[in-house]
Amino acid sequence: MSIKDNLLAIEENIEKALIKSGRKDDKVELIAVTKTIDVDRIQEAINLGITNIGENRVQELEKKIEVIGGKVDYHMIGHLQTNKVKYIVPKVKMIHSLDRLSLAKELNKRANMNSLTINALIEVNVAEEESKFGLKIQEVVPFIEEVLKFKNIRVKGLMTIAPYTENVESIRYVFKELYKLKEDISRRNYENLSMDYLSMGMTNDYEVAIEEGSNMIRIGTGIFGTRNY
Ligand SMILES: *Cc1c(COP(=O)(O)O)cnc(C)c1O
Repeated sequence: MSIKDNLLAIEENIEKALIKSGRKDDKVELIAVTKTIDVDRIQEAINLGITNIGENRVQELEKKIEVIGGKVDYHMIGHLQTNKVKYIVPKVKMIHSLDRLSLAKELNKRANMNSLTINALIEVNVAEEESKFGLKIQEVVPFIEEVLKFKNIRVKGLMTIAPYTENVESIRYVFKELYKLKEDISRRNYENLSMDYLSMGMTNDYEVAIEEGSNMIRIGTGIFGTRNY
């Protein structure tokens, strides 16, 4: 299928999932995950209406920003090493993978040096998979209370990567749990924090994620086809 057909199919599926979950007037932001995808194909997706690009490696992200420029927003969705923070803070719209205090400290420092506030989502490892980064559910509130002390970070919501499975129903609880956590945090009315985004749902599971309250999905394969690493 072409990128165009893929995007049309995704739009339709988003619509259906929203209707199914009784929130047909809600919006879901689509982030095109462009890791390993060459710039020509990314440009094609942009010409078809993509406005958000997600990358999980700093070097690749920097390279693509250099070529594509400021016509889209960039999201850092992968694990972020502290020593690479300085390269991307002024260039990205949001970091989806804030998962430790050392990273928060460095993000704050670099944002401050650039006289800006950096938007961040807290990455939560809901299923507690050994292979994945992110905080456990019960660690998130204490962590946020620490992050709130950093004046140049703005927490905007939560992110999770669900376990890969052929049986998507078996991971529905992951999305439910993250939604519940978001509601819990919202109720605490912290200053300088807004639970605007639930970044959950990838090619394999975005429909279920939307049914459970996602408003930001990160899709690579579903747009560009299988990646060649
Ligand atoms: C690669 C990646 C995605 C997209 O995965 P697909 O299955 O290709 O849609 C989403 N989120 C993160 C963090 C990723 O690394």
